[in-house]
Amino acid sequence: GVMVRRRVKSRRKWRSVVEILKELEEGCDTPVGRLRQVVDAMAVEMHAGLASEGGSKLKMLLTFVHHLPQGTEKGTYYALHLGGTYFRILRVLLGGERSYLDVQDVERHPIPSHLMNSTSEVLFNFLAFSLERFIEKEGDGSSSQGVKRELAFTFSFPVKHSSISSGVLIKWTKGFEISEMVGKDIAECLQVALNRRGLDMHVAVLVNDTVGALSLGYYHDPDTVVAVVFGTGSNACYLERTDAIIKSQGLLTTSGSMVVNMEWGNFWSSHLPRTSYDIDLDAESSNPNDMGFEKMISGMYLGDIVRRVILRMSQESDIFGPSSSLLSEPYVLRTNSVSAMHEDDTPELQEVARILKDLGVAEVPLKVRKLVVKVCDVVTRRAGRLAAAGIAGILKKIGRDGGGGITSGRSRSEIQMQKRTVVAVEGGLYMNYTMFREYMEEALVEILGEDVSQYVVVKAMEDGSSIGSALLVASLQS
Ligand code: BGC
Repeated sequence: GVMVRRRVKSRRKWRSVVEILKELEEGCDTPVGRLRQVVDAMAVEMHAGLASEGGSKLKMLLTFVHHLPQGTEKGTYYALHLGGTYFRILRVLLGGERSYLDVQDVERHPIPSHLMNSTSEVLFNFLAFSLERFIEKEGDGSSSQGVKRELAFTFSFPVKHSSISSGVLIKWTKGFEISEMVGKDIAECLQVALNRRGLDMHVAVLVNDTVGALSLGYYHDPDTVVAVVFGTGSNACYLERTDAIIKSQGLLTTSGSMVVNMEWGNFWSSHLPRTSYDIDLDAESSNPNDMGFEKMISGMYLGDIVRRVILRMSQESDIFGPSSSLLSEPYVLRTNSVSAMHEDDTPELQEVARILKDLGVAEVPLKVRKLVVKVCDVVTRRAGRLAAAGIAGILKKIGRDGGGGITSGRSRSEIQMQKRTVVAVEGGLYMNYTMFREYMEEALVEILGEDVSQYVVVKAMEDGSSIGSALLVASLQS
């Protein structure tokens, strides 16, 4: 009797876990019809954000970048990139031909976590100090005496610009919380810190990471008009006609185009498939009610969505053994672990076992490990597909979507008439998580049709955010 009862009980528990999974799958469902609604919503919000200040959750920020690097730039330039998880410093040497781009020295370090909620003084002193050390390594040979070094500052947070080299922080994202910095001029903060250390460096441009990626893309291929970052956070920028930026009337006298920083992380639409895990994650984050799209598609959050699902499963059943307190720790499960579990190709799922063990979940049967992989798959598939819808939304706004995916019956010449469009993509999530990338590319084809690859090219831009911003400085000098 006891044995039978125990077996019935454990079967019931397994069933509750299967129900949690089923509910998750339904909640994360992204059939192509829904993706198309997201595409349309993105395009509509873009228009609204361009029409008036505060007209949309999409800020559609002016960058004052009117010209992108051509490939003829010359000289030595520096870039400092403050991202979400890493900061980078690098030096490029340009020889006046596109093929002569020499990325000479690249330093990439994790941002010490105490800086994220320190003070602006501590943060900028740290950055200036890091630059000083970088320059010391150069010796005397590298800079011509008496000539200031020109520096690009890639700052991966929303900034309201007043020129290409100045702008104030609108708000923090990605867990940064130095509140006294909101409203301060970011380029000036860095320049002051550099001067204080006696460094002969000039902060020549202040750019978003997406703008850096666009610049590198354009330098290599002038059909590049959109850039997207999938990293700790997520965002996109694109080249817009100045006359379409209605809210800037009177301010932008130069005709032609300007790069617009969408800050698409803050995009929202009722068509986005949102689950209770998303709602809880948002409520418990350092920026509740903010960056809703980013919280569904970017590297900082995917791991935590997966963690929340596993935690719930472990609470409603004992299939994960005695519940581990580690699992209730926010952000312990990093997205790179999710990708490692998702892409575990060992027959026994040893990588999954190892990562679960690190979370305090030891020795679960294969069937439970498979379940965990499935959770990773559902969460990442949704992210990749929504990311694709975002890209398609931009293409739609600028008339590069091939007419909305009605490809069947389109003639060869109509397809050839489509302007070739390159989308530059950068960020650790995209670069390192193959399944995310594949889901994204697959959904792009579903949304835009089989012919999409004939006119839309998605190109990876490794280190584009930093290299590209250095190229932008170069293009201003020439
Ligand atoms: C920031 C953007 C940035 C993106 C990718 C977001 O959290 O708001 O400015 O481009 O992350 O790094």
